[in-house]
Amino acid sequence: MTDCIFCKIINKEVPADLVFEDPDTIAFLDIKPSSLGHTLVVSKEHVKTLDELPDAQAQSLMLTIKKLTKALLKENQGCNIIQNNNSVAGQIVDHVHFHVVPRNEGDGLQLNFGVHKEFSGEEKKNVIETIKKNI
Ligand code: AMP
Ligand code: ZN
Repeated sequence: MTDCIFCKIINKEVPADLVFEDPDTIAFLDIKPSSLGHTLVVSKEHVKTLDELPDAQAQSLMLTIKKLTKALLKENQGCNIIQNNNSVAGQIVDHVHFHVVPRNEGDGLQLNFGVHKEFSGEEKKNVIETIKKNI
């Protein structure tokens, strides 16, 4: 896609701090990192959200996420993997990607949902049925 920043990085029209590339995926450092080594793992196929990604590309993407996780866990105590779908969930770049964010004691990052709600048995039963129907 012509005006997509991640497609431009994939096509080498815009520079990035590349850490890994294979035929289906690319990984580079986030330009606004939350920790040292904060990496974006990106499918080379331009789709906006994860559900739109063909299965083969999703499999490749997960393998690259695993590679990055393995590499980053050698030098860090932990990591979070985050993926945002649509602006309501915090998606800024409309090209499917995962954040792999190294974590270490005292890093000050606050990655939690912040809200915990209670739902009735009926509400949970209904949502389970709806999810199953939609899979
Ligand atoms: P989000 O869409 O919220 O999951 O996050 C998009 C991420 O892309 C943000 O963390 C940005 O800092 C990052 N980003 C945007 N443009 C670039 C770029 N040119 N190179 C590297 N990272 C970028
Ligand atoms: Zn794109």
